[in-house]
Amino acid sequence: MENQDLKFVIVGHVDHGKSTLIGRLLYDTNSLPPDKMAEIKKSSEELGRVTEFAFLMDHLQEEREQGITIDTAQAFFKTAKRQYVIIDAPGHSEFVKNMLTGASQAQAAILIVDAKEGVREQTKRHSYLLSLLGIKQVIVVVNKMDLVDYQEQVFAKIKSELDIFLGNLQIKPNFYIPIVALKGDNVALASENMPWYLGATVLFALDSLREEVGEAGQALVLPVQEIYKIGDKRYVLGRVEAGELKSGQKIKVLPSGQETIIKTIEKFLQENLLSAQAGENIALTTQDPLFIERGNVICETGKEPSLKSEFAATLFWLSQETLQKDEPLIIKCATQESACQVSEIKNRFNSSTMEILEENASQLNFLEAAQIIIKTKKPLALSKFSEFSELGKFVLLKNDNIIAGGIVIEL
Ligand code: GDP
Repeated sequence: MENQDLKFVIVGHVDHGKSTLIGRLLYDTNSLPPDKMAEIKKSSEELGRVTEFAFLMDHLQEEREQGITIDTAQAFFKTAKRQYVIIDAPGHSEFVKNMLTGASQAQAAILIVDAKEGVREQTKRHSYLLSLLGIKQVIVVVNKMDLVDYQEQVFAKIKSELDIFLGNLQIKPNFYIPIVALKGDNVALASENMPWYLGATVLFALDSLREEVGEAGQALVLPVQEIYKIGDKRYVLGRVEAGELKSGQKIKVLPSGQETIIKTIEKFLQENLLSAQAGENIALTTQDPLFIERGNVICETGKEPSLKSEFAATLFWLSQETLQKDEPLIIKCATQESACQVSEIKNRFNSSTMEILEENASQLNFLEAAQIIIKTKKPLALSKFSEFSELGKFVLLKNDNIIAGGIVIEL
């Protein structure tokens, strides 16, 4: 697992320093193209470290505007330990969509707070999203410590305020770090300006996080992605999302409930495997010629997830259009898909203040969240999000557009 990437997202209020921190991380880890690094160094030779970095940010900005070379939507850097992918979160509705569709599953987050401004509206909204999306590994950085004379009290005050707020969202940050993204204090190197802080730098903190690859130690879950026919063989393709798949193992296919035995397990460019672990993409064949199709979920007999056509969820509404109770929608969960409707909106609330706006509502507006009941036409294999995220998160679609994301709360 040594060379597994770690994907993380940087969130926080506008202007608190997200882009600057991305630039700083790329620069300090030497991750920009060599000609770019050389150019920046040369142009700022006599101008000192800070200005040198300002040049870099100008370059990044320029290139971003032209849309070339440095793709800040997915920036990469490397430490001695592993490679990192920074997922940029341009707007939080994009972020929710990406997270819930699996387009970019962040395993961790850096929450950035301006030392001078403190906790602001988006700090709270983004924190709520992190908890909604089940991102458990969080590093809080208090940025722009230079603007508050590097005072420990300012850092301590923001830390205690956030500790309470995040605690209410069941988020326990792994680290709180005072930084100056612009100059690099406590990013790659410990700051000389804050001798009172003896904790980890941002890079050290990142290196100590876990890569959560699938969810091992659980019962087998394999959502079927596709069926391939080669000659008279039918290959079932999918990613093992939890547990282990073994050759010769008895399996159950949901929703039909048919049972069979795994005959072979194959992986691209590899010989037959005896088993496959969570996180592996494989092709399998079965002993009996069952009718298996995309959207089925393969699991272990006796340890199967619940098969439900009605469940309680937290929903995050992402469309400018209003959701009307009972309107026909499509739900997607892992590779499963069904017609569905929101049959009850128990309450709708403001997603940044979490203030309840209405009980028993009949509609839901842009950027509001709600506790709801969903009814699906076909039964879906589901888990509570807190127990197994892959079968516990879903998106709702209307006319092929994702209009909401949600997580399963109660089955
Ligand atoms: P974003 O909107 O969160 O991406 O914020 P930016 O990275 O664009 O930063 C907003 C402004 O804050 C810019 O003018 C940065 O130069 C400035 N800034 C970022 N980090 C620091 C810092 O550590 N110290 C100071 N003094 N300014 C900073």
